[in-house]
Amino acid sequence: MKALVYLGIGHLELRDIPAPNAEFLVRVMGCGICGTDLKTYSKGHHLFPPPAILGHEFYGLVEKTFPGSGFSVGDPVAVAPYAECGRCSLCLAGGRTLCRNKAFVQGGAFCELVGIPPSYVPTGVFKLPEADDVYTLVEPLACVLNGVGRLSIRPSSRTLVVGAGPMGALFALLFKVRDLPVTVVEPGLHRREAVASWGIDSREPGSVDPGEYDNIVIAVNRRELVEDYVKSVADCGTVLMFAGLGKGETVAVDSYAIHYREVSLTGCSGYALTHFKEALDLTARHREVFSRVISGRMPLERGKDAFGLLQSGQAFKVVLKPGLDSAENPK
Ligand SMILES: [Zn+2]
Ligand SMILES: [Zn+2]
Repeated sequence: MKALVYLGIGHLELRDIPAPNAEFLVRVMGCGICGTDLKTYSKGHHLFPPPAILGHEFYGLVEKTFPGSGFSVGDPVAVAPYAECGRCSLCLAGGRTLCRNKAFVQGGAFCELVGIPPSYVPTGVFKLPEADDVYTLVEPLACVLNGVGRLSIRPSSRTLVVGAGPMGALFALLFKVRDLPVTVVEPGLHRREAVASWGIDSREPGSVDPGEYDNIVIAVNRRELVEDYVKSVADCGTVLMFAGLGKGETVAVDSYAIHYREVSLTGCSGYALTHFKEALDLTARHREVFSRVISGRMPLERGKDAFGLLQSGQAFKVVLKPGLDSAENPK
């Protein structure tokens, strides 16, 4: 099968490799390029030593199955890239996203076929109502739902999303489909205009007044933003560190805000299966809305171009499609 193999920083190569030998196989229809994939490609990642196949935001068609799996050949499916055990002390204490016994799908999806162990099928494979590239967004949306759960949202809450990268954009669209007020602050004109064209209030940095927002989602990995927004969030408000900072990096927090103004600073990472299922349901119900985040589709052969496009900050999500012959022009 064809696979886009990551061979080290800045190196991706299309190769012919043996198809996985598994009882359950999914033929990949589309796989989104995630921030983690981009980081691995640009800077390397300790979890993905080369050679490796990246990509975990995928959907596809069942190519091979086994009796009793509940799936038939040809079924469109989304696959959760990992699943919590549901039984360890962290899972039982409600910290399912941090489960220490997570099961992972082995190998990435920037290739034609992904093998799933039979034991993982009932927990991590989900039937889709139809095959559509929008389902590459289920995993990132699941992470967004985990983040939203950390905020305190009332109908009158004012929420600010800092940064309109793909994740910030998904946050904003989620608020939009839920009919909750949301504003995005973003320095890039291209992204700001795109968000505004979706009917979402979008602003330039420097235009936010202190006390204007009750919830502030930081979707950019910059420490100063956390420090600034803890100072300017409303009394009793919440600042969510959605984007991760480097290991060992520290943030200086305004103690007056935390103590006298009862501001909360919180964070989140990843998703639990409940988020994944909810994200799947939301995506199916609002396909048109969430599809706006997909700004390009490219065949595996053009993987390197797709990563370059994302590095330039011009695109939101780019989906790699093994079956695609000629590239559509990304918006
Ligand atoms: Zn992801
Ligand atoms: Zn667990």
